[in-house]
Amino acid sequence: MTPLLTVDRVVKRFGGVAAVDGVSFTLDAGSVLGLIGPNGSGKTTLLGVLAGTHEPTEGTVTLDGRVASGRGAHRAVHAGIARTFQTTRLFETWTLREGLRLARGERRGRRTPWPDEAPVALLGLDHLLDRPCGALTGAAQRLAMIASALATGPRVLLLDEPAVGMDTADAAALGDAVRRVAGELGVAVIVVDHNMHFLMPLADTVVVMAAGAVLATGTPEEIRSDEAVIASYLGG
Ligand code: ADP
Repeated sequence: MTPLLTVDRVVKRFGGVAAVDGVSFTLDAGSVLGLIGPNGSGKTTLLGVLAGTHEPTEGTVTLDGRVASGRGAHRAVHAGIARTFQTTRLFETWTLREGLRLARGERRGRRTPWPDEAPVALLGLDHLLDRPCGALTGAAQRLAMIASALATGPRVLLLDEPAVGMDTADAAALGDAVRRVAGELGVAVIVVDHNMHFLMPLADTVVVMAAGAVLATGTPEEIRSDEAVIASYLGG
């Protein structure tokens, strides 16, 4: 199978600092990749390159064989890459339905490739569509942010610490929802999160970054037993 997304020797330098220093991996449609690593290892910068907010200093990101990197955030969305942020950004007085319509408008002129209800139902938000966003629980707001990102009809979804601050039950429900999005919509998902209890059951593949480079890539089981990863990150 040809990979959906190919990250090929991406480097991002800020002045003299190589925040991302030669990262390569591929991602198939419908799969979930967990991106972990200590603070300062380059995860956020790599997400920025993928989302088009950072132009790579070297290397490329290709989606379905077309270069998607280095063209700005708007072009990345058009190419089919959408992201969420660590903080929730919802208009409190708007209903969830209104918020999702606004999100979909960011991709004017292109039809979403599936019925709009599908992501909302997969995320378990269908009964909340007419509630004001400000009245949703924190966990539902986090799911709503994912629904907004999916409203643009992406092929690749980038999630930056989606489970931060969630209790175990909410994090597990979020993990299940993300798996449904990948499995049933065929979206490829990249998740950055420090919570291994959340990430390990969710990911098909884990990429471990250290000092801007890939320290290890493997299944969650392989990563859990990797000596270098344990020494540098998981802490034994
Ligand atoms: P992580 O998300 O893994 O914590 P980051 O991508 O935020 O790592 O940071 C990686 C490195 O790049 C750090 O050394 C950080 O200080 C540096 N860095 C990130 N963004 C910038 C920037 N805009 N300008 C200069 N240095 C940056």
